[in-house]
Amino acid sequence: MPYISLNPATNKMLKTYTSWDSHRLAAALEEADNAQQTWRRKTFAERAERMHRAALLLHERANEYASLMAAEMGKPLREGRAEVEKCALTCDYYAVHAEHFMQTELVQTDASKSYVCYDPIGIVLGVMPWNFPFFQVIRFSAPTLMAGNGCVLKHASNVPQCALALERLFHDAEFPPHLFATLMIEAADVAEAIASHHVHAVTLTGSEATGRDIASHAGQHLKKCVLELGGSDAFVILKDADMELAASFAVRSRFQNCGQSCIAAKRFIPVAEIADEFVSLFTKKAMDLKMGDPKSEATQLGPMARLNLRENLHQQVTDSIAQGAQPILGCEPRPGEGAFYPPSVLDRVTAKTRAYHEELFGPVAAIIRAANEEEALHIANDTRFGLGSSIWTGDTENGEKLARQIQAGCCFINGMVRSDPRLPFGGTKASGFGRELSYHGIREFVNIKTVWVR
Ligand code: NDP
Repeated sequence: MPYISLNPATNKMLKTYTSWDSHRLAAALEEADNAQQTWRRKTFAERAERMHRAALLLHERANEYASLMAAEMGKPLREGRAEVEKCALTCDYYAVHAEHFMQTELVQTDASKSYVCYDPIGIVLGVMPWNFPFFQVIRFSAPTLMAGNGCVLKHASNVPQCALALERLFHDAEFPPHLFATLMIEAADVAEAIASHHVHAVTLTGSEATGRDIASHAGQHLKKCVLELGGSDAFVILKDADMELAASFAVRSRFQNCGQSCIAAKRFIPVAEIADEFVSLFTKKAMDLKMGDPKSEATQLGPMARLNLRENLHQQVTDSIAQGAQPILGCEPRPGEGAFYPPSVLDRVTAKTRAYHEELFGPVAAIIRAANEEEALHIANDTRFGLGSSIWTGDTENGEKLARQIQAGCCFINGMVRSDPRLPFGGTKASGFGRELSYHGIREFVNIKTVWVR
């Protein structure tokens, strides 16, 4: 199967690339490994110089990269530019802070001197998705490279132009040749890459099924893995919430990137007293979103990234309606060309429906009405996933208490779940394990070494 770059707004083929055979893969892994042997000996200042340069190039190329994303996966231009700016911020963040995060720690023991130091681990394979084709890659590669490691990327097969642009970015920022390499391999060849002695760890952002596959290969070869999988984040609205604020952020969180984000709010859980008010405000705001050509500046909602993703989503919607959910907005694909699906709301979602249990990876909100705060908390945790969550309330002290009872990698109070390089990011349960970003992220792929001196 070649790599196919296809515009999801028009279904027109843009470019195809032949995927690599085993020999080409083996050669690229060896080259990356060789490049890392030198890179690991560079000072943090030398690494940071290049990482700052990458940030600068990201700023300069924001429009170009946003256009690529719009063309290959349908992201509206303004969201694309914001994604590229966030990449630049993350590169600068690790360029500035990596040395501190990796500092040797003296520990008092019976030795004359003992300490913990953080050594590079080698080559990290990143298997990445198409939904944030730039940021997902930078999120793993900026800390990984600053730690002294090398990166090889297996990007999603529908965003090959983005994948190659990323390789060029690191090349143009004067990182050593081959230290960051885009592998044009198929999903089926990932196991071979994991097995290679040139690869020392693997990180995946993607679906649960892929997570299980990658974790089992990593386990077989005793290589560390970090998994950032799907989510079905709860958005709990309590009776004392600022309803206008909650509804505005609910719309942003659910429909940004056409709903294709692991940390999008997916299950909206209003308590009985304010449920009607919330649902009506939310639906009105969702209705106002402008769907259309991702290359138009006015567009807020582009097409979904692929037709098969839209088909899966619509099947989940129709099954949920048959199981008792009420469609109150959208819930039918837009006819004509492109993988467009309008902003949609399913009300009265219950535990009998697919929308309650499964991740809806597209522009469809599931409203699950709760009798009270206690039930809202129960519903929030009644999921296989555990990535993000948010609570909307006028009583932040109570919000914090509830946050501690939520089974998820993060809980935001009166704020939309989003990643921030300063804070760790990752999930629990079927959302995966390990953390990205902050000092936790950079320390995932290092050898935490003890040195003891008599
Ligand atoms: P996948 O998990 O299939 O794809 C993510 C990455 O994994 C791609 O690079 C893909 O390559 C690769 N991959 C796929 N299967 C394997 C495998 N068996 N072994 C190794 N690598 C593999 O996601 P999809 O694109 O199919 O999206 C499906 C669902 O996944 C979404 O509906 C959503 O629920 C979830 N998802 C979650 C994301 C998140 O941010 N957490 C991001 C994207 C998807 P290739 O493209 O060549 O198949």
